[in-house]
Amino acid sequence: MLQQTQVKTVIPYFKAFLLNLPTLKSLALSNEKSVLKLWEGLGYYRRARNLLATSKILINEHNSKLPKSLINIKKLPGIGDYTGNALLAFIYDQPTIAFDGNVKRVFSRILNKNENKIDFNKLIEINKKYLFKTKRNSDFAEALIEFGALICKPKEPKCHNCNINNMCKYFKSDKKFKKTKILEAKVKNYNIFCYIDKIKNKIALTKKHNLGFLDKFYLPSIKESHDNKKIKNWNFHSNFKNSISNKKLNINLYYKFSLKIPLQYQWFSLKKNNEFIPSFTKKIFKQILKIS
Ligand code: SF4
Repeated sequence: MLQQTQVKTVIPYFKAFLLNLPTLKSLALSNEKSVLKLWEGLGYYRRARNLLATSKILINEHNSKLPKSLINIKKLPGIGDYTGNALLAFIYDQPTIAFDGNVKRVFSRILNKNENKIDFNKLIEINKKYLFKTKRNSDFAEALIEFGALICKPKEPKCHNCNINNMCKYFKSDKKFKKTKILEAKVKNYNIFCYIDKIKNKIALTKKHNLGFLDKFYLPSIKESHDNKKIKNWNFHSNFKNSISNKKLNINLYYKFSLKIPLQYQWFSLKKNNEFIPSFTKKIFKQILKIS
């Protein structure tokens, strides 16, 4: 839940999740619909699907335990280097480091070198003897993350209060390295077309779209537009901006009152549904409710 999401946002979701699915077994016996419902509003829904799939694999293939090697742990859905190493350190106290953005920044500052010029795996291998001297590997992995978040912060690091400033090349150097700027995601134009049943306050949604992101979720018809021209035969409702995952969308919303809907569409109430509806679709509901 904490991937790409702040702790304060996660806390109520985490509590509700554990209340409903308190054990690995209860999660594995659950289904996608219930897990997504508990995740509703948290975004990045692939995480929820991966968690469910992982719980089943752990129960069926690993005797309900996490594998103890990085190679095997990374075979689980959605687990890459960062999460794999974090799990090995936190759960099995293995001598490893979870390189998130904070930790990468700490090491790149200590070396006064750009992150993309550092081979972090090699760095651990070469310095293993020194890095894991205390044998408190889990604490060390966690401490590095906290150190990056609280002391060696992205802006204005607290160098004068830092316990390792005597070995930090960034602190000592007059020529401090400059971080490579991350290119902002390009804004893409999309048209959304909503079929509305005005009498019953319903909207037609489908899971069949070619978006890639928001894959397998209920949405009205959505199509990328290359020229952002207004569409004929549909009523223009509004323009709005939205960010989904790392995508930036400029959206023109259209609607039509119609009881005829294309194949593979279903009617959904604009007010209350038992189905999981992603927050992006709910935003559209709110706008459409104003006219229906
Ligand atoms: S001295 Fe400053 S830049 Fe270096 S590790 Fe400490 S806080 Fe980070």
